[in-house]
Amino acid sequence: MSFINIHQIQSALAQPSPDPGPVRDALARARTLQGLEPEQAALLSRVTDPQLLGELFAAARAVKETIYGKRLVLFAPLYISNRCQNECLYCGFRSANADMHRMSLSQEQIADEVRCLTAAGHKRLLLVAGEHAGPDSLSYILDAIATIYECREADREIRRVNVNIAPLETDEFRQLAASRIGTYQLFQETYHPQTYARMHPAGPKADYLRRLMTMHRAMQAGINDVGIGALFGLHDWRFELLALLQHARELEKTFGAGPHTISVPRLEPASGSALATHPPAAVSDDDFLKLIAILRLAVPYTGIILSTRETPEVRRAAFALGVSQISAGSRTTPGGYGHGDDENSGQFSLGDHRSLDEVIRDIAHLGYIPSFCTACYRLGRTGRDFMDLARPGAIKSHCDPNALATFQEYLDRFASEETRRTGRALIAQHLLALDSSVRSIARGLLERIAAGETDVYC
Ligand code: SAM
Ligand code: SF4
Repeated sequence: MSFINIHQIQSALAQPSPDPGPVRDALARARTLQGLEPEQAALLSRVTDPQLLGELFAAARAVKETIYGKRLVLFAPLYISNRCQNECLYCGFRSANADMHRMSLSQEQIADEVRCLTAAGHKRLLLVAGEHAGPDSLSYILDAIATIYECREADREIRRVNVNIAPLETDEFRQLAASRIGTYQLFQETYHPQTYARMHPAGPKADYLRRLMTMHRAMQAGINDVGIGALFGLHDWRFELLALLQHARELEKTFGAGPHTISVPRLEPASGSALATHPPAAVSDDDFLKLIAILRLAVPYTGIILSTRETPEVRRAAFALGVSQISAGSRTTPGGYGHGDDENSGQFSLGDHRSLDEVIRDIAHLGYIPSFCTACYRLGRTGRDFMDLARPGAIKSHCDPNALATFQEYLDRFASEETRRTGRALIAQHLLALDSSVRSIARGLLERIAAGETDVYC
């Protein structure tokens, strides 16, 4: 049985534009970091008045600033296989796309890719693959995760592997949990059942309910950090937003912790997919920023992930409103870091082609601290334990020092001269803005980095 209450969403969306009073009540509640009731999120999604929209964005900025400060966590996707038995109409990897040059990387090729990424300074990867039985089955994925963690030399290592792979059964999720993954991510694509059926005509992914219940199986199997998402552009964005929030509430109710992250990919052109070039429910930049702002208000402690799919301009606006994690320097072709992206083997076109160093410099110019922190997951601060620390604000005394230390480590060992200069000035400035107790923790970690230590965290 689906826990998505379609009737409730549709009747909430059918209401007229809201009056200022209830909108301001919702914003006042969200500013106290208590999140939003479902009706309030629905109400905010219908706001069109420019004055009220300005107040909505201001509230989202305030919540973002209070909980996340200026930190932005960085990661890179690692595509290991583009073989797929599904027929998602929007994806270049879909099985009927005969022009796709199919490949699954060998463990040696995966290690080559990891070396490219660690040489650039990456510490966090998102492993991505199509859905394929046989050689791309779970054991291939588990081997790949082991390869990534084993591929370490001197100061170059991946410290957290998140995965975005097809749904598994509960006993398979137990094996995945044992492989030391960080977050297990899976996007419902669209929560609207009829649209889902049209978009997924063949393959195991055609089963809407099996996909919807995936995070229940993952959490039952002991995966504490899960990441949900919707692919924006397939159906009305407001419907997807409210359904995402129902999903988050359902996980919170059942497991005592909601999703660790919510991803907000927007449909991008993909080779061999007419649908991806002409999204059936395209989301404008303005609406996209509005949905990010409402998510930030509704689930203040849940990370929001924005991918390379977005242009630098949209990403900049989105950081201020709520995004807390971004990908940088990405390739969507298996083998793409070593050999470059290739239209006939990549998943979709990227909106941002800059290197990690360029993205970091840009972020630093905007006053954000790029973070490669992996401390919570390695110290077991996951799921409910993470939320118990995050809600009273206690996590901040860990996040700020860890972000600064990992940023300093990047600057000293991987950055270009120009990025290093910009970054060091930013760290000095940021230290001054911290509370004195947090500042002294941060100084302690920075001194250890300056003395030549790596991977320091609290
Ligand atoms: N195959 C697995 C699955 O579908 O869940 C995991 C990997 S799949 C490559 C990761 C995500 O890519 C999908 O969940 C979908 O949201 C996204 N995606 C597919 N085609 C896309 C496109 N044209 N533009 C943007 N994102 C796309
Ligand atoms: Fe396969 Fe995932 Fe692409 Fe669908 S979205 S075709 S399941 S890789």
